[in-house]
Amino acid sequence: MSNQKADPNKQQWEDSEFPVVCETCLGDNPYVRMTRDSYGKECKICSRPFTVFRWLPGTNMRYKKTEICLTCAKLKNVCQTCVLDLQYGLPVQVRDQALNVESEAPNSDVNRQYFAQNIAGKDISTSNYDPAKASPENRDMLRRLARNEPYYKRNRPHICSFFVKGECTRGVECPYRHELPGGDSELAQQNIKDRYYGNNDPVANKMLSRVRSTGSSLNPPEDKSIASLFVTGVDEEITENDFRQYFCVFGQIKSVVVVHRSKCAFINFATRSAAELAAQRVGDTGLNIKNRPLRVAWGKARPKGPKSDTNKPCEWFTLQTNQLKEETKRAMLIEICI
Ligand SMILES: [Zn+2]
Ligand SMILES: [Zn+2]
Ligand SMILES: [Zn+2]
Repeated sequence: MSNQKADPNKQQWEDSEFPVVCETCLGDNPYVRMTRDSYGKECKICSRPFTVFRWLPGTNMRYKKTEICLTCAKLKNVCQTCVLDLQYGLPVQVRDQALNVESEAPNSDVNRQYFAQNIAGKDISTSNYDPAKASPENRDMLRRLARNEPYYKRNRPHICSFFVKGECTRGVECPYRHELPGGDSELAQQNIKDRYYGNNDPVANKMLSRVRSTGSSLNPPEDKSIASLFVTGVDEEITENDFRQYFCVFGQIKSVVVVHRSKCAFINFATRSAAELAAQRVGDTGLNIKNRPLRVAWGKARPKGPKSDTNKPCEWFTLQTNQLKEETKRAMLIEICI
């Protein structure tokens, strides 16, 4: 034991109590049982031995384990398993492009270990990845691309390669998936280092080209009776009048309802075309009032009630605001077995 401690190299190895993983990788089961293997494998990025956690993210899913060490994960603010950004669930390349972040970590294998050793145990600042630093357009792009809900399908078993060739004889007993390769096969085949450093990541490239070609996220809803925009992130400083001033150029405004308690507002236009015009503008440039970036979505028709009290937020307000707050993590119990 004392011999191990005396090894100066091993002192720099990473032994962690808890993994840093995203909600998708944890799975939908609120109780996750993990095994913990100190120095179980080499980190796929810095190649230092690290603590490997392994767990089953739900029934009919495949076992997941941490692939990169905690230090490397913290450095890029990514999940130790899927190596996607922890806040947005996006590939590093997409996030860094949107936030205009230059990588601090060395790209050469020689320096990587040294760098990781130096940084290990120190408090790593993730302020690099603060969306406040991005331009309104880029922030809007992040918001559009971000995955706000866990995507558990990603945890399914890999596709059975024998089945694809028509040669699997295991039938229902086969632990792999019996279907033909579809959309998410790219993520599985991707090189982990490329994903981590955001180099030529095929998934990222696909996402970025999609966002460039579609432009605005504010595609008008099918229901032509909808002529309202829903704004969130509205603090006390922003008044009804601010909205009127900003939006009046697009056409006649029927009403503006600001609910500071729920940090949201409803801009009701008199015509659909005015609303579409406003949505187009906001989708292109983002909405920024009094230096505050606001989020805009198409509204829904107000539920028809016996009376409409504008001081009281209707059901829909509360519902939408709560949904937006859902980005916060759900409580989870993780049992670690050694
Ligand atoms: Zn590492
Ligand atoms: Zn993950
Ligand atoms: Zn099979």
